[in-house]
Amino acid sequence: MIMEKSRTVTAIAPAKEIHEEDRFLSPEQRDYAHEMFSKYLAKEGFRITSERFKVLEAVLDMKGHFNADELYATMVMNKSRTSRATVYSTLELLEKSEIIFRHNFRSDCNYYEVRFDEPHHDHLICVSCGHISEFVLPQLMDIRKQVAENAGLKVMDHSFQVFAECENPKNCPHNQ
Ligand SMILES: [Zn+2]
Ligand SMILES: [Zn+2]
Repeated sequence: MIMEKSRTVTAIAPAKEIHEEDRFLSPEQRDYAHEMFSKYLAKEGFRITSERFKVLEAVLDMKGHFNADELYATMVMNKSRTSRATVYSTLELLEKSEIIFRHNFRSDCNYYEVRFDEPHHDHLICVSCGHISEFVLPQLMDIRKQVAENAGLKVMDHSFQVFAECENPKNCPHNQ
């Protein structure tokens, strides 16, 4: 009979998945985003134009992760006349003002998401179908602290991406 060794290591709890449909910004969060953006534009000496705020509104309406083309296509569908160039340049400003995150999921374009509607989460990317899911793994908070402190540094942030492929690309539940 094989005796199981007693374990002192805490097993990794299953990651909690976040569902994009559950994301919802409160009116207060939307106001806060407007305020942050106005402040940023004023501080950096950019003009406060209605076009820039139309892009912000469209960004706040996007669920989960999106790229610049998806945002632009959604705006066109909603009869917006904002130019593609304005959409791209405003995304840059929104990133700098810390309203959105920019991710590069090993794809040829950047993905964005609103920053303050969720606690820190990380990403699982299916390289076969491109599906992006999110998870929260509390253990990572301790790990990153340990890694930084061992080097005498203080943690600012981290980014953890898991790349995986569908077991069967033809039947990938995300690829329907
Ligand atoms: Zn897949
Ligand atoms: Zn995310």
